[in-house]
Amino acid sequence: MFGRPKTIQDGLARTRGSFFGRIRQLLVGADVGVDITTELVDDLRRQAEAGKLRTPQQVEAALRERLVAMLKQGAPSVIDEPRLLTVILVVGVNGSGKTTSIGKMAHYYKQRGRKVILAAADTFRAAAIDQLKIWGERVGVDVIAHQPGADPGAVTYDAIRACQARGADMLIIDTAGRLHTKYNLMQELAKVRGVAAKQVHRAPHETLLVIDATTGQNGLAQARHFKDTVGVTGIVLAKLDGTAKGGIVFPIVQELGVGVRFVGTGEKLEDWAEFDPEIFVSGLFEQNGSET
Ligand code: GDP
Repeated sequence: MFGRPKTIQDGLARTRGSFFGRIRQLLVGADVGVDITTELVDDLRRQAEAGKLRTPQQVEAALRERLVAMLKQGAPSVIDEPRLLTVILVVGVNGSGKTTSIGKMAHYYKQRGRKVILAAADTFRAAAIDQLKIWGERVGVDVIAHQPGADPGAVTYDAIRACQARGADMLIIDTAGRLHTKYNLMQELAKVRGVAAKQVHRAPHETLLVIDATTGQNGLAQARHFKDTVGVTGIVLAKLDGTAKGGIVFPIVQELGVGVRFVGTGEKLEDWAEFDPEIFVSGLFEQNGSET
């Protein structure tokens, strides 16, 4: 993909400048961000100059390895650990793909034998409640919802009670995502968290931040915001089908110190997969590297 010179003389020595320039272009073009790109390229260049990397193939392999390692940081998901009731809080800005991701995740876990209930704790938008109900019907799982404007903490409380009464072992909570009223949102998310923590030991077990893969560097600002307001234990990268630029996850993962759990790859129920760092990095090279 970077062009394959036949010999070493033909390779790094003569094309070093533009070769590393192309790597830089690939990473920045994929939205990896300038800071991480500069760090990676400088490091690869040093290794090449020290003679540790001798061919473009070796540089590419080293780059892939570094990228994969970056995505493997953070604790693994605890969702599959055995417990009576697993509570998953899902946060993200409006439009990021939160509700859709919740529907797909419910389907995914239902297919794996879990009994799932959804909680419509984004009570601010009537449309959000309706959307979640539609996904619930589509997947075939119960949705606990109150009227628009109701207390999200009360919805969470009722949903946990419903899980206990109906023998559900997974609760996925949809939350509000209006960033412009930051203070209220912070209070609201803290309250939902608090109710979950009081009712279920160590809940929420996972707090997933949904990031729209097409938002670019703005995704990093969102990640910082949610990290500060509610705490985040994992990332969902939605709308990965719409972009070759999913590289925004690198700065996000680095900033939050948590891993990517799932990717959304379309609007259908099945367009959902566990995140695989190797596959993701290969995709990044294939989609961004063809012209380099
Ligand atoms: P929310 O406001 O965060 O709950 O966002 P929604 O779940 O309503 O999604 C916003 C829009 O993005 C909708 O039109 C969804 O169909 C679309 N969407 C969500 N996830 C994906 C995805 O993985 N791929 C694509 N192509 N579209 C998605």
